[in-house]
Amino acid sequence: MLSDPVIFAMSAALAGLCVGSFLNVVIHRLPKMMERQWRAECAELAGGEAPPAEHYNLIVPRSACPSCNRPIRAIENIPLLSWIVLRGRCAGCKAAISPRYPAVEALTAALSAYFAWHFGFGIAGAAALLFLWLMIALTFIDLDTYYLPDNLTLPLLWAGLLININGTFATLQSAVIGAAAGYLSLWSVYWIFKWATGKEGMGYGDFKLLAAIGAWLGWQMLPLTILLSSLVGAVIGIGLIVFAGRGRSVPIPFGPYLAIAGLIALAYGPALTQAWFGPL
Ligand SMILES: [Zn+2]
Repeated sequence: MLSDPVIFAMSAALAGLCVGSFLNVVIHRLPKMMERQWRAECAELAGGEAPPAEHYNLIVPRSACPSCNRPIRAIENIPLLSWIVLRGRCAGCKAAISPRYPAVEALTAALSAYFAWHFGFGIAGAAALLFLWLMIALTFIDLDTYYLPDNLTLPLLWAGLLININGTFATLQSAVIGAAAGYLSLWSVYWIFKWATGKEGMGYGDFKLLAAIGAWLGWQMLPLTILLSSLVGAVIGIGLIVFAGRGRSVPIPFGPYLAIAGLIALAYGPALTQAWFGPL
């Protein structure tokens, strides 16, 4: 039944709502988990007492209202619906709950349905959903913290190589070269830019993200991905300056542009390159 395109897209939308809800937790907690780990390592290195290790991961403690610490009951944790029914307020203290939570859930659901529809039921469809979900998490973590955690970029890279053992999106040869070339291309841009201007334009997380995109799509898609990320960056950057009055010097993370470009290239890369260069 799942192989019916409409049913697969609808199931992906439903799954996307729940995954989006979990991605909200990942986006919020993963940077905090990394920070705790760094603090513990620094304390250990300095020879002091390590801070007491309290359990803090993606599962515990249970989600609670940041204002009144009231635990969020399962019924208040239904993706999208709970936020609408509660009119965006905590059921206890009525403090406003950020509209970003339902927005991430709705975005994940809509894009999941789209990708399921585009790739159809099968390995490519399932893999494309995994790629999409990790890209959404990376985008929002980078927007919040300017980090692209290794805990996400590196598994994404391995997953890309594994998916392409059977040539799902690219040949394995092209995927391996794509991973190395993706990393090295941004790495060289970084060092040339740093040598020329003394500034750091991006971070190592960006190199790893492009390496992962290369592993998923193959090296042939890297020039298109870089071109698309600059286009997306220009459009969003100009939009922010014109409509949001954002200063030109405010740093904007590069990860979200790479992630959006990677998603466009996954869905339309072959069609776009073929339209440009003719059949390869
Ligand atoms: Zn509350």
